[in-house]
Amino acid sequence: MSTAKSMDAIMSLCKRRGFVYQASEIYGGINGFWDYGPLGAQLKKNLRDAWWQDMIMNPCWGRKGPNGERVKCVPVETCIIQHPKVWEASGHLAGFADPMRKCPGCGHFVRADQLWDIITTGSEWFASLIQEFEPALEDTKTPAIDASKLLKWARSKGRKQAPNLALVKNPEVVLSFLATRINGQPTAPPDVVEIIRHLATAQLNATGLQDPCPRCGDVLGTPAAFKLMFETYAGLTQSEDNKVYLRPETAQGVFVQFKNVVDTTRIKVPFGIGNTGKSFRNEITPRNFTFRSREFEQAELEFFCHPDESLEWYKFWRDFRMEWWKSIGLAGENLILREHEKDELSFYSKGTSDVEYRFPFTAPGFGELEGIAHRGDYDLTQHQTHSRNKLDYFDTTRGETLPNGGKKGERYMPHCIEPAAGLDRGALALICEAYTVDSARPSPEFLKLHPRIAPIKAAVFPLMDKDGLPEIADALYDKLFARFGRIGLIENDAKQSIGKRYARMDEAGCPYCFTIDGDTKADQTVTVRDRDTGQQQRMNIDKVEAFLAEKLGV
Ligand code: ATP
Repeated sequence: MSTAKSMDAIMSLCKRRGFVYQASEIYGGINGFWDYGPLGAQLKKNLRDAWWQDMIMNPCWGRKGPNGERVKCVPVETCIIQHPKVWEASGHLAGFADPMRKCPGCGHFVRADQLWDIITTGSEWFASLIQEFEPALEDTKTPAIDASKLLKWARSKGRKQAPNLALVKNPEVVLSFLATRINGQPTAPPDVVEIIRHLATAQLNATGLQDPCPRCGDVLGTPAAFKLMFETYAGLTQSEDNKVYLRPETAQGVFVQFKNVVDTTRIKVPFGIGNTGKSFRNEITPRNFTFRSREFEQAELEFFCHPDESLEWYKFWRDFRMEWWKSIGLAGENLILREHEKDELSFYSKGTSDVEYRFPFTAPGFGELEGIAHRGDYDLTQHQTHSRNKLDYFDTTRGETLPNGGKKGERYMPHCIEPAAGLDRGALALICEAYTVDSARPSPEFLKLHPRIAPIKAAVFPLMDKDGLPEIADALYDKLFARFGRIGLIENDAKQSIGKRYARMDEAGCPYCFTIDGDTKADQTVTVRDRDTGQQQRMNIDKVEAFLAEKLGV
């Protein structure tokens, strides 16, 4: 289970083995931006390719949809910068502003809707404060706040960790205030969040409930809107007329090209249009490694269908997307499908589900990997209204039957089902799930990546860098490279002890290593080592290619 996994250890492996680096690291980094190193870039490509293969080239593994026919999808690749009216129509310009709160003490901004999430999972002072009074709260019959412990905390750790928390600035007053409010209350045991709000209360006003800054403990200001879209200028002058935006999602590029795709191809509704690429959101609190960044990659499909069939298609995509994530290695209990409650749905949506993963930093909770939304005809209608171009569809397979046996046809605005996945969150979930610690092994940390996702598919090792072994290894490498080089990396390494070479491949998540040794010359056999079990077996060198093809499923 990933709940016991250390995010620090995972991030350290990602850096050490060249999966993920901080962007602009030599300049001190830039908050909310991450680069992928050689192994990370290949892993992400494998994930993108798997999505493309299973969503565009051979959608849903060749399955038939609710209409009894094979699912049809085509790709587009649309611009990051679109006409600003696209974002007016989509609602992003007006609505893509999250309420956020500013700390008067340290100037830090916090997203209002995530405040307590951030405080409880990422605040150093919260974690240390909770240690002081949690044992008392466990006694649900006579809960009591131990004032002496809190006083001690306020005068020691608190000064460093939350200098602006009212408890730290003015402990005696806050504690006596707290005692009158909480200790000895005959009602339900005090709620941790309520207590912390009391501890932050600078003015000790009538309600006493205020929200503290996760960084310094000061009382946060009231929520205000904050634009999440990055702005820039297209043209030489930096005027309002030239202002453009970096897309916050890839989906809108599809909606604005819907008519072109219908007019220039033979594809007919129901069908999907896929779009992958970078999106940008000026997130107020980028955090949790690549999970919430300001530049990230999406893989979105907009699937258009007749309104009467839309609910069936929604259920179809929701279930397939869950199955798909399982098929590439998220098969355990850390993956769930969460259907949104009615009151969570956008006004136009008949249903939305999230595929969620229990990351080490969200545990015991879950974080969204992909949202599957029934968007009705909202987007096409919005773009039709704003662009004044007709975007409805004439379906020649529907309507009354004519005397000649053909159909009269029906004009309608298709409904859209949108499975919208994040490739960075996907890659992170795959790494977290694969990360395994086994102290009994010479290399205690390894990545049990699914062979389809693993950046290195196989490694060839001559046991020694002499006696003709490197030549045999080179020949095997050439053969494997020719066959599998297009789907991933093949390593050929003669340096260091064999144990260290295995350990390196384990950390990189390489599923199979083939070792050439003295016996190879005599009997044409090599050792195959399995990453997950560490077990080794002998195999004829001529069988290696077929063995690997079977294991990689290609
Ligand atoms: P959240 O509520 O976590 O901000 P969202 O519901 O706004 O996410 P969508 O607009 O549905 O996300 O985007 C689809 C997918 O894009 C998400 O499921 C996620 O995988 C990815 N994504 C969205 N925002 C980010 C981000 N800031 N960093 C990395 N990936 C993101």
